[in-house]
Amino acid sequence: MKPLIDSYNRKISYLRVSVTDRCNLRCIYCMPSEGIKPLRHEDILRFEEVEEIVRYGIDWGIDKVRITGGEPLVRKGVVYLVETLANLEGIRDLSMTTNGILLKDYARDLKNAGLQRINVSLDSLNADKFQRIAKVGKLSLVLDGIEEALKRGLEPVKINVVAMKGINDDEVLDFAKMSLDRLLHIRFIEYMPLGYKGFAKEDRFFPTSQIKERLKELGELIPAEVRGAGPAKPFRFKKSSGTIGFITPISKHFCATCNRLRLTADGKLYPCLFSDYGVDIKGPLRSGAGSKEIRELFEEALKNKPKKHFIKENNQVMSKIGG
Ligand code: SAM
Repeated sequence: MKPLIDSYNRKISYLRVSVTDRCNLRCIYCMPSEGIKPLRHEDILRFEEVEEIVRYGIDWGIDKVRITGGEPLVRKGVVYLVETLANLEGIRDLSMTTNGILLKDYARDLKNAGLQRINVSLDSLNADKFQRIAKVGKLSLVLDGIEEALKRGLEPVKINVVAMKGINDDEVLDFAKMSLDRLLHIRFIEYMPLGYKGFAKEDRFFPTSQIKERLKELGELIPAEVRGAGPAKPFRFKKSSGTIGFITPISKHFCATCNRLRLTADGKLYPCLFSDYGVDIKGPLRSGAGSKEIRELFEEALKNKPKKHFIKENNQVMSKIGG
């Protein structure tokens, strides 16, 4: 086995797999209200193809897979995919990121299929504001989904909150309080100027330093442990059951330790969240490419993995020379 190592000596062990471009929400920062033109059915990777790519990845040192989207739970048969991947020898960590709308119905089957843990994205605990952010869907569905995930033992259950100035920064304490007496892990993510361009133009960046300042009201944060913390540094309050994490892609990027590649629903391999460049895997795979050719495509993605991203706090792109 020759591990996947990029030009900056970072070992790649984590593959994020998007199983659909479709979503049942229209979050203001992600998509325009009218949605985006969906991929054609035939352009989306079939589950056998995802499995094949993941198998190659395992041969080369991938041991952590996250299923994401679009919204992964709108992809028909996703539980089957979870089961298939969970049964692959070599996968140490199998997780999913979901908006939680359908989670109440799926949590039990996902757990039985072998999903280990789950991240639920939730940006407001206020029903009206939830609607303003997500446009469709209902807060109560997500909260029910979270309860079901806890009940079924998807552990840990993490809540991902994209902190946005003037949108939900006033809810930081309410979210943090969820970790006090429940085994919930709240993670505040800095808003990145990605996704829907109309929203990205506005100044919505709310830095982790300000979140921490607000949290002082609840007491001192002490270091904690949580499984699969990735770039989030976990903390907890003295008496809390759950934890609080901060993901700082902008104010303190963690590119130096980035160990990920991303596979899109239409089979392109992206070396970085901020890359415009994706290597097509689906086409060659469908034309009969085997291990050697697929490895070359992975190598090409690795070669294009930037040392770091170039987004500054004011959402401007820094000069890529020396920036
Ligand atoms: N539909 C699933 C969900 O909502 O979790 C998976 C896909 S969603 C794009 C993955 C995560 O990325 C969500 O937690 C979402 O809030 C986050 N996200 C999307 N756009 C973002 C941005 N511009 N800045 C920070 N996080 C973002």
